[in-house]
Amino acid sequence: MNTSRTPVLFDTTLRDGAQMEGLTLTADDKLRIAQKIDELGVQYIEVFAGSNPKDDEFFHRAPNELRLKHAKLVAFSSTRRAGTTPGKDEGVRALVGTNVPVACIVGKSWDLHVKEALRTTLDENVSMVSSTIRYLKKHFDEVFFDAEHFFDGYKNNPQYAIRVLEAAAEAGANCLVLCDTNGGCLPHEIRAIVGEVHETLPTDLGIHTHNDTDCAVANALAGLEAGAVHVQGAMNGYGERCGNANTASIAANLVLKLGVPVITDAQLARLSEIAHYVYEVSNRTPNPQQPFVGSSAFAHKGGLHASAVARRRDLYEHIDPGLVGNIRHLVVSELGGKATVVLKAQELGIEVGEERTLSGVIRRVKELEHLGYHFEAADGSFELLLRRATGWEQNFFQIESFRVIVETDGHGAISSEATVKLHANGERYISTAEGNGPVNALDAALRKALSTSYPELERIHLADYKVRILNENVGTQATTRVLIESTDGEKEWGTIGVSENIIEASWEALVDGYVYGLLHQPR
Ligand SMILES: [Zn+2]
Repeated sequence: MNTSRTPVLFDTTLRDGAQMEGLTLTADDKLRIAQKIDELGVQYIEVFAGSNPKDDEFFHRAPNELRLKHAKLVAFSSTRRAGTTPGKDEGVRALVGTNVPVACIVGKSWDLHVKEALRTTLDENVSMVSSTIRYLKKHFDEVFFDAEHFFDGYKNNPQYAIRVLEAAAEAGANCLVLCDTNGGCLPHEIRAIVGEVHETLPTDLGIHTHNDTDCAVANALAGLEAGAVHVQGAMNGYGERCGNANTASIAANLVLKLGVPVITDAQLARLSEIAHYVYEVSNRTPNPQQPFVGSSAFAHKGGLHASAVARRRDLYEHIDPGLVGNIRHLVVSELGGKATVVLKAQELGIEVGEERTLSGVIRRVKELEHLGYHFEAADGSFELLLRRATGWEQNFFQIESFRVIVETDGHGAISSEATVKLHANGERYISTAEGNGPVNALDAALRKALSTSYPELERIHLADYKVRILNENVGTQATTRVLIESTDGEKEWGTIGVSENIIEASWEALVDGYVYGLLHQPR
């Protein structure tokens, strides 16, 4: 590691990351993500500057709508095309039109690509790089050069790859970013090649890696170790094919493992929140196994693990989860045993008290798991189970009955209607509601019946509904397991229902979801 300087963190979620299959970001999404990534404390945020309306909209709105405290915006494009001048090149002109302080341009450094992909001469490619950089330097505070396919180019023709870098440096590039565009390198190759280039050229070097060998983050760190002072990544490892190096993991490793303060401790403590925000806005399901920020990153399931974690946290955790804004999570399952239940109760602030209550809870969990309950994803139901074992009963409402009707009109249209009768705060309520399915209708009727007594339910809604058919252990009769995820906009909780009847299973999970929500609403 170049210890004399703290490297800069350059985030390309909105450029290279946005190339990911299945990802489409509107200008609005990009503005929200840029604002949030700025809060992480990265120094640069790169955005694609094409000559299309969607990219234009971002750069047009950015000056009024973004309040960046740490990062500079970087507009990205390619060098001019062959046989023209930068001032006449449409892409270069679009770049200048973005009015941001930094430009990053990509150019070829692999001779084979110059001949086969660009179909121009090696000399013309060098001139494209240098003339574009020279031109952009008049319009931007800083200009970075992404040397595309640098590592493959260097392996095949090191003289030419270096010649391109030299031309970029001479033209005034502030940083030469060595890109493993195909993502095929291993850390030892990156370390060796970056080291050689670092000895050859005095200009600042950057490292841009992809995850095709599952080594993107390791490669980025190897590049820094060999002398690079600028590292590029995309949040959550977004990017083409297997993705880019993950900005979140790079930041956490630099700060926590290598002692390099690329962001502050306070910024790092928001890592999990920011990573999940990016998932949310880009409409992707978070990866629970994602290092540092995933919901399973500090989950302990085995009984032995859980009891050891209770004694010494560092036995099974490589860092304190709080440092990256994550939390320890004890997974409740029949593997867990006594220690998990005790810990979980402590975590929730519930006094399990006597040994008798505790063995009662464990016996109950085992019975229910045998029936098909599965508390790992149903933390809400588990908490209610623990509370009930200590004699607690919910007194928010008492259900008298429910009914649901599914009807067709003879022309193929199906409608669902539910009626719920319940008592709350000494009153009897009867509500009927329609829905686009029986569970939706039940949810609507239950919510309606409770709304007078509990206006705070306004904040709570169903976030996810999963049905699984279980055929094990129950002979010929299939059992249905329903998992419901509810949220009040801040917190999420899971509840579960199991029955041979899908409506009954759904109802159980639904009711517990509301009970849990009411129990935890401030009032
Ligand atoms: Zn890339």
